[in-house]
Amino acid sequence: MIKFLDLNLLNKRFEIEFKNGFNQFLDSGQYILGEQVTSFETEFSEYCGTQFCVGVSSGLDALQLIIEGYKTLGVLKNNDEVIVPANTYIATILAISNTGLKPVLVEPNIQNYNINPEKVRKAISSKTKAILGVHLYGQIHDVEQLESIAKEHNLLLIEDAAQAHGAIYKDGRKAGNLSNAAAFSFYPTKNLGALGDAGAITTNNEALAEVIIKLRNYGRKSTYVNDLKGYNCRLDDLQAAFLRIKLKHLDADNNKRREIANLYFKELNSSNIVLPNCKDLAQHVFHLFVIRSHKRDALKNYLYKNGVETLVHYPVAIHKQLAYKEFNDFELPITEQIHNEVLSLPIHQLLREDQILKITDLINSFS
Ligand SMILES: *Cc1c(COP(=O)(O)O)cnc(C)c1O
Repeated sequence: MIKFLDLNLLNKRFEIEFKNGFNQFLDSGQYILGEQVTSFETEFSEYCGTQFCVGVSSGLDALQLIIEGYKTLGVLKNNDEVIVPANTYIATILAISNTGLKPVLVEPNIQNYNINPEKVRKAISSKTKAILGVHLYGQIHDVEQLESIAKEHNLLLIEDAAQAHGAIYKDGRKAGNLSNAAAFSFYPTKNLGALGDAGAITTNNEALAEVIIKLRNYGRKSTYVNDLKGYNCRLDDLQAAFLRIKLKHLDADNNKRREIANLYFKELNSSNIVLPNCKDLAQHVFHLFVIRSHKRDALKNYLYKNGVETLVHYPVAIHKQLAYKEFNDFELPITEQIHNEVLSLPIHQLLREDQILKITDLINSFS
């Protein structure tokens, strides 16, 4: 079976470095917010090109702390509207509703699955205060349009960069540095993945970074002195040690994913599928290689029977979830079409050429 993802195999590559990292961590005696976290924050902000990075416990917490941070600064408040793509992982939307704001779901482009700026414009009301965009599947969204809309209407632009570590926009800025503040997840399956839960916020806004540093740690200014009603959302020092090791390999890993994507582009020629639309490889880190097919479920079963595991990102649209009953009547035809037709092919860094050719041969002979 060609597995969709083989985390064990992927992490085995770093076994010796991980063990050294663990020994350093153990010897340090600092298990919470120690030097591994501080060093990772410095290294990741340098990598992204931002002034600040704050390590936190997960991608969801990163998104929520950005919103809570802006609330603390008086920039956002309860019931403000946040424009967000309707087709994303549910965490993006949860971050908005969990913090007391209102998600306004906007349809994506069918070409690249990222939020459609024209539809963003139409969704703006007097209550709109922010656009929370997602670089879905690893491809940077339409920064130029979104930045100009945000500027024109005085809105915050926030990035969910959980799938786009290392993607480079055409002007040279990286994901994480394409908005007022960005959230990253280092969930084990992400392009930069820890060995547990982890996340981070990157920003060039010093006041925001300072507030988030407090909020992630009980709102405290110093031990037992609390300025804010905060949370426990700290990045674990051990995970930071692992992330520092993997960050050094991120660009090579992303390039490997691009090579695999290129081979898929070259080999796949079936009229039953639509390939990802990617004009600029630098802007895509192929967190996922997502094709579309009217016969998605049959294709998925056929591949599985022939020894290829694929996944669907995501099978149920958010507005169709029980968790968001209030959206169940919405009509979002493009979002629904995407959820019904998408299929993610294996693309992890250790996939071999013979395995890729087996996958492309199978898909090309599927009818
Ligand atoms: C993974 C992911 C998240 C959530 O990250 P966690 O670390 O699992 O909380 C948020 N948004 C997107 C787009 C993701 O892919």
